[in-house]
Amino acid sequence: MSFAASVLTLYPEMFPGALGLSLAGRALEAGTWSLEAIQIRDFATDRHRTVDDTPAGGGAGMVMRADVLARAIDHVSPQGDERPRLLMSPRGKPLTQARVRELAAGPGAVILCGRFEGVDQRLIEARGLEEVSIGDFILSGGEPAALVLLDAVVRLLPGVMGNAVSGEEESFENGLLEHPHYTRPQEFEGRQIPEVLTSGNHKKIAAWRRAEAEKLTRERRPDLLAGAQPLVR
Ligand code: SAH
Repeated sequence: MSFAASVLTLYPEMFPGALGLSLAGRALEAGTWSLEAIQIRDFATDRHRTVDDTPAGGGAGMVMRADVLARAIDHVSPQGDERPRLLMSPRGKPLTQARVRELAAGPGAVILCGRFEGVDQRLIEARGLEEVSIGDFILSGGEPAALVLLDAVVRLLPGVMGNAVSGEEESFENGLLEHPHYTRPQEFEGRQIPEVLTSGNHKKIAAWRRAEAEKLTRERRPDLLAGAQPLVR
């Protein structure tokens, strides 16, 4: 069973976008995952295919209508669909590698991309949408956020990444940022590769990498350290 993504958007042309290339693109072609981009406007009922209206209570901008969005969601995700329903939203829970892993282990995702000021609150409640943020900044729409989320998920699907080990040692997987990387040439503008890395002593190399990872995490993301796992080798 492959991971099935359904994206609800006013801009279906933005998909698969970057996900049509490289690892994700090859996996899409191979059927490891599937993607349908649904035009929300197709579920409007008036002549102008209206999807938004002015905010109740006044103020700037427009709000996406609950009735139109509900019809779109019910069309792609009828009762019994086991996939989580996500709403890309700066008010959501920040996306983590742990949530990405959970999603990758599941049947897929229905992803609603907001535009304008956002969506009617009643829709979020009535359809049990999980609000997901990709960071503390405001995008003009949910589409780039959906692409980010799907990129993170798809690379974890079985067979997508050639070297599965590199996935396990990455930043966040063990509560640490990753150690620095080096490759040839041995000298670059007078800078050498740290000697330990060319020593061939794997125990020492592992200890050096762990120490570097801890140092980097302490400097940049002390909040992560609480969840760090001890080194086992
Ligand atoms: N008025 C809203 C921002 C709307 S931005 C507020 O202040 O909270 C328009 C749409 O872009 C949102 O509905 C959401 O789908 C998407 N979006 C913006 N920033 C995002 C973020 N950091 N993460 C995920 N989606 C985001």
